Amino acid sequence: MKRLIFKLLIFIICLFLSFFGSVFAQDILKIDSVHFDNSDKLIFLSASAPDGGQRNIKTYNLKQPNRVYFDLDNSVLIGDKRNYILENSPIKEIVISQNSVSPSVVRVVLTLDEDTSNSDIKVSQLNGNILINYSKLDISGDYFSTIFRDFRKSSNDYYEYSKIFSQTVERNTIPIMKPDADKKVLEEIQSSIKNTTLNNSDGLNYDTVKKTNINTDLKTGYFLKLVKYQNNGILVQGIGHAQIENPTFLSNPSRMVIDMPNSYVEPSIRNKEIPLGDSGETVKVGQFEVNKARIVITTNQTAKYLPIFSPDNQSIFIINTDKLNSAYVSQTKTNINGYFNKKIDRYTNEFTLAFTKPVIIGLRRNPDSFTAYFLNAVSYNEQEFKQALEQAGLKDIKLSLMSNIGIRMTCPLSRDKVIRFDQNINGKAVKIVVTSPTPAPLIQRNKKIKGSVVIDPGHGGTDYGAIRAGINEKDITLDVSKMVEAILQEKGYKVYMTRNDDSSVSLQDRVEFSEKKKPDIYVSIHVNSSVKNDIYGVETHWYNDYSHELAEVVHKHLVKNIPSTKDRGLFKSKFYVINHTTVPAILVEMGFISNDAERAQLVTEKRKQLVAKSIAEGIIEYINSKK
Ligand SMILES: [Zn+2]
Repeated sequence: MKRLIFKLLIFIICLFLSFFGSVFAQDILKIDSVHFDNSDKLIFLSASAPDGGQRNIKTYNLKQPNRVYFDLDNSVLIGDKRNYILENSPIKEIVISQNSVSPSVVRVVLTLDEDTSNSDIKVSQLNGNILINYSKLDISGDYFSTIFRDFRKSSNDYYEYSKIFSQTVERNTIPIMKPDADKKVLEEIQSSIKNTTLNNSDGLNYDTVKKTNINTDLKTGYFLKLVKYQNNGILVQGIGHAQIENPTFLSNPSRMVIDMPNSYVEPSIRNKEIPLGDSGETVKVGQFEVNKARIVITTNQTAKYLPIFSPDNQSIFIINTDKLNSAYVSQTKTNINGYFNKKIDRYTNEFTLAFTKPVIIGLRRNPDSFTAYFLNAVSYNEQEFKQALEQAGLKDIKLSLMSNIGIRMTCPLSRDKVIRFDQNINGKAVKIVVTSPTPAPLIQRNKKIKGSVVIDPGHGGTDYGAIRAGINEKDITLDVSKMVEAILQEKGYKVYMTRNDDSSVSLQDRVEFSEKKKPDIYVSIHVNSSVKNDIYGVETHWYNDYSHELAEVVHKHLVKNIPSTKDRGLFKSKFYVINHTTVPAILVEMGFISNDAERAQLVTEKRKQLVAKSIAEGIIEYINSKK
C-alpha cells in the first residue's frame, strides 16, 4: 500500500512538472539543416519545435569585420557547427553554432562585406523555420514558390524562357526539403543516378550522369514518393516543393503528360501502370530526365484532368473535373481580400491575390487560356479586383463564383505568352506572372557613331564601396571609368557615364539612366573584396543570357593584358544593375582591394590604364562583331 501511495505521489509530481513545464517553458527549437536559395538572397534554417518554436529574434551588429549576429534561445543545433564561406554574395560567411548548452542557445553569425549594411539583413520566422533575407530588394517577407510554369523548348522562346526563369530564381526558389530526409534523399539520388539508366526520350544514355555534382547540377526540390488512385483521383505525394509544367497531350492512346521539374522519383514506383478504378484509365510516373519527373495519364478525357495543389505544396491531387465536388475541398473556407498589380518591366506583369486562409489551387493551362480554381474560396470583391486588373492591363481575366466548388479564374492566354503561377509559402497568396514575347535585344545603329556604351563607375558619394588601408573602391572605379570613356570617345564611340564625379547614385537610377539612353551595352566597373585576404584576381559578371558573350569578350582582354593578376573567371551573378538592364550588361571586378599586393597595384596609373584599355578593347571587339 505504501508503495502504491509512493507511486501515486511520484505520478502527481510528474503531472505537476509536466503541467508547469508546458506553461512556463518553451519546447526546444531544433535546428536541423541550412539551405540556400538559387539567388543567394535567402538563407533558410530548417527548424522546428512541437509548440511552433516562435522566438523573439533580435539582431546585433559587430564591427571589423562587419558582422550581424542573433541568438536563438532554448534551441539546439543538430549536428556539428556549420560554417559556410559564400562567394560573390553580400554575406561572406555564415557560422551557426551551439553557443551554450545550459541555457541552450544557438548563435548565428553573418560576416558581411563592406558594401552591405546591417539593415540589409532581415531575419524572420515561419513555422519555426528561420529565414535570413539579405536581398536589398526586400519584398517584406513574401516568399513565393513556383507551382506552375510554362515550359518551352523551341529556340525562339529561349530568351523568353530564360528571362522568366531567371525571375523564378530571383525570389521564388526555396529548397524546402524536410530536415531528416535531406541528406538521405540526396545520397539516394546520387547512388540511384550511378546505378540506373534514366528513361529519357532524347535517346541519351544517362549513365554518363555519374559525374553529376549534387550541389550544382542536381536541382532536386521534390522527392516524389507515392502515386496512387484515391477518392476518384490521382494522389501524388512527396517531400519538398512540387511544381508542374504546362501539360502536353499525346494520341494513340490518348494521354495527358505532366512534367514536374526539379523532381526525383522514388525508384521503386517508376514506370508502373496504375489503374484508375475500373474506368480503363491509368496513370504512370517516371524519371524523365535527371531533374524531371513525368506523369502520364492515359485517358480519353485529357481535357478534363485538373491538378490540385495542397497548400503546403507537397502533394498534388489530379482529378477529372466532372468528379470534382466540395467533398474534396478542405472545410477551411477562405476569402480573397487583396488584389495587387506590379509591372516588372515592359514585357512582364505580376498580379497578386491575397487570401484570408491558405488556399487550395487547381491549375490548368490550355493552348489559348489559363484557368485557376481557388477551391476553398467563397468570396471576393469584384470592384477591387477589376481595379487591379485595369492597372495591370489584364482586363481579360475573369473571376466567377461556382456553387460548391469555389472561385474560378479564367484568363485568355495565347500560346506565345509565358505564364508562371507562384504560391506564397504561407499558402495565403498567389502570384500570376505573365510575360509577353520579346525579341532578343539588337544593337541599334546610328550612322554617325560607331556604337554607344553606358559606363557605370561603381559606388560614389556616401557609398564608398570596399575600403582597405584608406583606399576607397569608389575612387578607383571612377578613375578607371574615365579612362575607358576617354579611349572609347577617341575611337568614335558614344559614352554615357552614370556618374562623372564623387556623387551618390542609386542602383535604380543607374538602371533607369541606361534604359533612357538605350546604349548598345552597359558596363559596370568595380573593385572586389574578400574576408580572405589571400584572394586576388579579376572576375567578370553577367546575368542575362544575352550578356554572356560580352562578358567573355571583355574578360578575355583583361586576362590577356594583366598578366600579374589571376583569371578568376566568369560568373553568373544577380547584381541589380546587370539584372535589370535590358541591353547586354556586365560587371567587371578589376581586382581585390583586400589583397595587399593587388591593392598596391590597383592604385597605380599603370594598372588602372591596363584595366581601362582591356575593357575598352573588349567593348570595341564585341560591338564590331555585332555589326
Ligand atoms: Zn563594388
